[in-house]
Amino acid sequence: MAKKVKASQERCSGCGNSFKGRATKLCPNCTFLEEEGLLKDILRFSAKALRQQRKQFGLSAEDYGKLVFVSGSTIRSWEVGKTSPRNSNRFALAGVRDMSKPEALKMLQLFESEDV
Ligand SMILES: [Zn+2]
Repeated sequence: MAKKVKASQERCSGCGNSFKGRATKLCPNCTFLEEEGLLKDILRFSAKALRQQRKQFGLSAEDYGKLVFVSGSTIRSWEVGKTSPRNSNRFALAGVRDMSKPEALKMLQLFESEDV
């Protein structure tokens, strides 16, 4: 028996998360960010800036990848413009973008200390 499913599940065009509702293409969280003027800043991506920061921090693509939960080859691919990060990745990238070098290194240390 065909049961009609109400299409109320939307995919957020900001972060890619699924959410309920159809009034907006952004989830409530992103709507909030947009109101605060933060969304545009978070979703902005520059391959050059990524590479610059990684070099400044003295990190390999693999290590930088750990900070944003992707592989080293994904980082390299973004840096040369072969692929572009998805919005969900851009959220993670924005978090690292705001980090200082000591903060980034500390975070990597924490990640590694979990590999028991
Ligand atoms: Zn969202």
